[in-house]
Amino acid sequence: MDNILLMLPGPTTVDPRVLQAMGKSVVNHRGDEFGVIYDETTELMSKTFQTKNSSYILTGSGTSAMEAALANLVGKDEKVLNVVGGKFGGRFKEIADVHGINAQTLDVEWGTAVTPDMVEEALEADEDIKAVTVVHNETSTGVAAPIEEIGEVMKNYDALYIVDTVSSLAGDAVNVDKFHIDACVTGSQKCIAAPPGLAAVTFSDDAWAAAEKVESNSYYLNMPKYQKNGAKSPAQTPYTPSVNLIYALKEALEIIQAEGLDNRVARHHQAAAATRDAVKALGLELFPDESVSSATVTAVKMPEGLTDDQVRGTMLNKYGVQLAGGQDHLKGNIIRIGHMGVISYKELAITFTALGLTLKGLGKDIDAGAGVAALANHY
Ligand SMILES: *Cc1c(COP(=O)(O)O)cnc(C)c1O
Repeated sequence: MDNILLMLPGPTTVDPRVLQAMGKSVVNHRGDEFGVIYDETTELMSKTFQTKNSSYILTGSGTSAMEAALANLVGKDEKVLNVVGGKFGGRFKEIADVHGINAQTLDVEWGTAVTPDMVEEALEADEDIKAVTVVHNETSTGVAAPIEEIGEVMKNYDALYIVDTVSSLAGDAVNVDKFHIDACVTGSQKCIAAPPGLAAVTFSDDAWAAAEKVESNSYYLNMPKYQKNGAKSPAQTPYTPSVNLIYALKEALEIIQAEGLDNRVARHHQAAAATRDAVKALGLELFPDESVSSATVTAVKMPEGLTDDQVRGTMLNKYGVQLAGGQDHLKGNIIRIGHMGVISYKELAITFTALGLTLKGLGKDIDAGAGVAALANHY
């Protein structure tokens, strides 16, 4: 197990320091000691989101934060516009449906990115839209949406701007306040490189004002309750949090601050550019257009004549490198290489050595070392 290199778009490899932090004693979650740790963790979270607003930690995976944002900001029968260009965009629509929210979709072809103009047109066409959901990094297709430019559109409308940065925060540029984001959500196990099991949410003043008026139809994910308990002294959460996962998250966020957010984002972009060139050098094709491809996960078309089992199976079983497959209709048609979290030249060199040998071994007429050689141009 320990030998498997996780090149997945989450969960990602966790630094031993972070794992060790989890082993500290469990403390009373309503006591002073935990209150200080919770406050420090949410402050680090706000720094990472780049917002002056408070952040809240939820015990749940990234999806819990998606649901918290929607269920607290848009009431039953109110309208939300869900930008859907992949599995996670579609998840926002599914959540809206479950909560009886009137979900309108702005469909974007999988593998392409939504544009600010498309969002503006949709808002112009329907003034009842109360919120817009955008997935920054559509992990299922390896496409990054222009959330800063969309924010420039959103700031001119009353509609709330809800952004999923589960697979981009601390890997690609996310600046909640500068991008005019009203609700930003993330998860612990992707670029943040903490273990799975926690999510985080931050709301703008406009979002809190909306939340006050919405009769939340979630008991557990009631954000005003998180706000009220977070403001207590010592700071608390409404229900028992995963104390030890919060120790780990805090450690992971400290590592991020020590590296520097900008440096970390640059490191991810460097890994993404190197990955794209290495993929092409091995004769493979990228799934999305290069101009919109993600900084944290690269989606690659399945090599002609080979199956998912052959490629990913050999990578895993022979070389100990785990890649992700496609989801929904892309299952079997793409492979996804996650390069988020601690990923650097070393992990990419192992991955592309293995991928070159895998393809060569499966009969592809290629130079097995071409991928690694291409990486070297970026480091
Ligand atoms: C991973 C992911 C999520 C949440 O998935 P969980 O399994 O609930 O953590 C949401 N959105 C995006 C873009 C993701 O990559």
